[in-house]
Amino acid sequence: MPKPHSDPRTVLTETFGYAEFRGQQENIITHVTEGGSCCVLMPTGSGKSLCYQIPALCRSGVGIVVSPLIALMDDQVAALRQLGVRAAALHSAVPQDEQRQTREALRAGELDLLYVAPERLMLGGFLDSLERIEIALFAIDEAHCISQWGHDFRPEYRELSALRERFPHVPCIAVTATADGPTRADIVEKLSLPKLFTGSFDRPNIFYGVGLKENPRTQLLRFLETRKQGESGIVYCLSRRRVEDTAEWLRSKGFDALPYHAGLEHHVRAGNQRRFLNDEGVVMVATVAFGMGINKPDVRFVAHLDLPKNIEAYYQETGRAGRDGLPATAWMVYGINDVVQLRGMIDDGEGPEEQKRVERTKLELLLSYCEAPRCRRQTLLAYFGDACEPCNNCDTCLEPPETFDGTVAAQKLLSCIYRTGERFGAVYVINVLLGTDDERIKRLGHDQLSTFGIGKDHSDREWRGVLRQLMVHGLVEADSDAYGALRLTDAGATFLRERQSLELRIDARPKPKRKSAVRT
Ligand code: ADP
Ligand code: ZN
Repeated sequence: MPKPHSDPRTVLTETFGYAEFRGQQENIITHVTEGGSCCVLMPTGSGKSLCYQIPALCRSGVGIVVSPLIALMDDQVAALRQLGVRAAALHSAVPQDEQRQTREALRAGELDLLYVAPERLMLGGFLDSLERIEIALFAIDEAHCISQWGHDFRPEYRELSALRERFPHVPCIAVTATADGPTRADIVEKLSLPKLFTGSFDRPNIFYGVGLKENPRTQLLRFLETRKQGESGIVYCLSRRRVEDTAEWLRSKGFDALPYHAGLEHHVRAGNQRRFLNDEGVVMVATVAFGMGINKPDVRFVAHLDLPKNIEAYYQETGRAGRDGLPATAWMVYGINDVVQLRGMIDDGEGPEEQKRVERTKLELLLSYCEAPRCRRQTLLAYFGDACEPCNNCDTCLEPPETFDGTVAAQKLLSCIYRTGERFGAVYVINVLLGTDDERIKRLGHDQLSTFGIGKDHSDREWRGVLRQLMVHGLVEADSDAYGALRLTDAGATFLRERQSLELRIDARPKPKRKSAVRT
């Protein structure tokens, strides 16, 4: 049965059963149906699939959808078949005889949409077979995978640029939910796309707040105590261990908290997930393993007890709050140790050096979000190429951070790191600055340095704030192999040599000083 070449609106209402297009959908669908190529950047859940499914049904020939996620392909194919669309998938998990049937249907022009894994598509023979049939369009899902700047680079995606050369007259639509500036530019260039559509990334009902990690548990407890009874939320932690400890501790404080991470037995995980979805007031303490594909509209808060990997991850994770449009909160605390730990994970990770450099840069961008003196929402949206007015619904809008001229403090700290030989961690260096009476400092003769005791004008806590910000500004780095030994970066050395100046934030509300701070 050849498909009736309907117009987009008819397909929207009759095939999909929706009354209206959303956001940019209509513009995009018209553009592609008329044969135009484009890149589409819209957040998760905004309806990107329709942007290629409808044009594929309106144009003659089969729409070829490239997707890296097998589970997602199968879901979409099943959903489309339910609607009477002739859809199929080709990937390694499809049984051989089904693959053969699909290839036959493809040859006979009996498919509306075909989902393929990228490595399949690029096999020489497969591309040849496509040249003999009519193709409505190519859709590249998760298009950020094409870029080394993307958080999920896949080498097999690189080959996709060849598609455009071989099929220059077939429209190509690349869609993604996460692409910063460089990734966007990469997608557009690699696939020679003449147009970019960007949806709004703003989640106006989410309040964003970021605080300094001091006593994370107590801070979390204080935050949870401000919430109304019966609210559901997610608390993200970096490690499985921390997930379990935190969940147990919250239970001891009377919260209905459950753990979730990939190391739990399958039935425990599934059971906890079910409780979270069905019951009110469950706090899910989880690693990032939790969330993909979870659709619970009334999650009222997402708390990060540890820093996420980068801004994209932060946006995805916090985006699980408030899908129902009602007020929700994204809460996070972070500190120097997070930075050191995440840097270490990147350094120790597998993969090429180039990739690690990208990840380090992305971590720095996240840190500058944390330290940003201006509206959080503006900072976040700018990352996705989106803009807004100061929102009045984030911590920095409600309480703008104060800053001070941190030039002298930065010089003192940088020279102290330098003078002690770039071999010591934060505690030691700060003790030298404070002129602390310390056995090790004396033994190493560092009480004789010109920098010994020059930092008495700031407290220990203030120095940690200065140090953290110098790290965020890329002037100091901590060596993850040498117990967090601090050293100057090239930029830090230049700063010192050229006597540059620097504005720093005053960290919120200093804690009352304890009388005798004993440190080890
Ligand atoms: P994305 O791929 O952008 O994450 P999806 O394409 O999966 O989002 O769409 C998210 C949900 O929104 C789906 O359930 C989809 O059916 C629904 N949807 C998409 N467009 C519309 C629309 N115009 N009207 C109503 N629902 C829509
Ligand atoms: Zn704001």
